[in-house]
Amino acid sequence: MFHFAFLADDPSRLDEDQILPKMCELLKVGDIPIKVHKIGHWLVEGVLADKYREGRVFLVGDAAHRHPPTTGLGLNTGIHDVHNLAWKLAAVLNGQADHGLLDSYQSERQPIGLHNVEWAMCTMGNASSPTPAWESFRSPSPLSSNGSFFNSLWSPIPESARVHQRIAHAVRRANASCRRFAIDTDQAIVLG
Ligand SMILES: Cc1cc2nc3c(=O)[nH]c(=O)nc-3n(C[C@H](O)[C@H](O)[C@H](O)COP(=O)(O)OP(=O)(O)OC[C@H]3O[C@@H](n4cnc5c(N)ncnc54)[C@H](O)[C@@H]3O)c2cc1C
Repeated sequence: MFHFAFLADDPSRLDEDQILPKMCELLKVGDIPIKVHKIGHWLVEGVLADKYREGRVFLVGDAAHRHPPTTGLGLNTGIHDVHNLAWKLAAVLNGQADHGLLDSYQSERQPIGLHNVEWAMCTMGNASSPTPAWESFRSPSPLSSNGSFFNSLWSPIPESARVHQRIAHAVRRANASCRRFAIDTDQAIVLG
C-alpha cells in the first residue's frame, strides 16, 4: 500500500493519472510495470447523518458518522451503534417488543455520533497544534548557531518566554486529548 498526503489547496491532489508516476519517482524504481488495484481518497472531515433511520433502513458505523481517526473513535462508535440496534431488531422481529422501540436507536445513538465527530475534529486540531510550537525550536541559519540559539531558550529574555508559552500551550492541548482517554502522555514542561 502506498500513501500520499496532499495539502488541501494542491490542485493535483485528486489527479489519479499522476499517482503512478509520482510513486515511481519517489521509490526511484524507473519504469517497472506496476498494477494499481485501487485508489482511495481520504479527507479530514466531520460528517454526521441527518437521520439514522429511514423506514426499514438503519445507518450504523461510518455510514452514520465519519471523522478523523484521532483518539480512535470510529470503529468503537460503530460497534456501539450495532450493539444498540441488534437486540432491538431481535426483540421486534421476535414479537417481544413494539416497532416503536426501533425509534430509540436514533435518539440514543445520534447525539453520541455528534459528540464523537466534534471531539475527533477537536483532537485532530490538537494533534497538529504542536507543530508550530516545535517550529519555534528552529534555529536561525547558519546551523553553526544552533547551540547558542538553544541556550538562549533558557535565558530570561522575552523571546524565550514566548517560545515556552507556545510549547506549554501545545502540550496542554495534547494532554487534554489523551487524558480524556485516560492516557497520561507524561509530557511536561518547566516554565520560568
Ligand atoms: C487511518 C485510520 C485509523 C483509524 N483508527 C481507528 C482506531 O484506532 N479506532 C477506531 O475505533 N477506529 C479507527 N478508525 C476508523 C475505522 O476504521 C472506521 O470507523 C471503521 O472501519 C468503519 O467501519 P464500517 O464497517 O462502518 O465501514 P467500513 O469499514 O468502511 O466498511 C464498509 C464496507 O462496505 C463496503 N461497501 C461500500 N459500498 C458497497 C456497496 N455498494 N456494496 C457492497 N459493499 C460496499 C466497503 O468496501 C467496505 O468494506 C480509523 C480510520 C482510519 C482511516
